[in-house]
Amino acid sequence: MKNQVLIVGRPNVGKSTLFNRIVGRRKSIVHGIPGVTRDIIESEASWKDKKFMVADTGGIFEGGEEMSEKVEKQVKKALSEAQVILFVVDGREGITAGDEYIARMLYPYREKVFLVVNKIDSEKLQKNVYDFYALGFEKVFPVSAQHGIGVAELLDALHSLL
Ligand code: GDP
Ligand code: MG
Repeated sequence: MKNQVLIVGRPNVGKSTLFNRIVGRRKSIVHGIPGVTRDIIESEASWKDKKFMVADTGGIFEGGEEMSEKVEKQVKKALSEAQVILFVVDGREGITAGDEYIARMLYPYREKVFLVVNKIDSEKLQKNVYDFYALGFEKVFPVSAQHGIGVAELLDALHSLL
């Protein structure tokens, strides 16, 4: 996939909610991938003066399950081609085995990984964020994709890398 911002994470962490928050009402393109249960959804987005493509990787990174060699090859290609990888985790649930599995897969690309700790809907939940540094990524962004909290800060940081 040519570009740019790839959203990854295990199911239910809020990838699609974040994707919709970033792209707004634009039309998305759906890519079916053989051997993968859910499609990749891609759309153009913009922030300030920059346009970029965002892809919601859906069910590619189910976490824990063995990928076929063909799928793994495609995943690695997408990861290496992306300019920024948004690794979404659930800030209410804490780190799971699925998160750790994905973190290992992303480790070679860690320079361009933004760890997005989602579902931080209130000030009270901010304290949950610290645990996630254990995943080994430096750039950590608490957000609430549902309520739009922290998303501007995330996009500002992303903007400087595009
Ligand atoms: P995906 O499987 O990673 O694409 O996750 P979804 O975007 O489908 O979201 C999974 C569930 O988490 C849904 O019920 C969402 O409404 C919920 N969710 C997403 N973002 C947030 C958030 O910021 N806060 C809370 N509390 N729930 C969220
Ligand atoms: Mg989804």
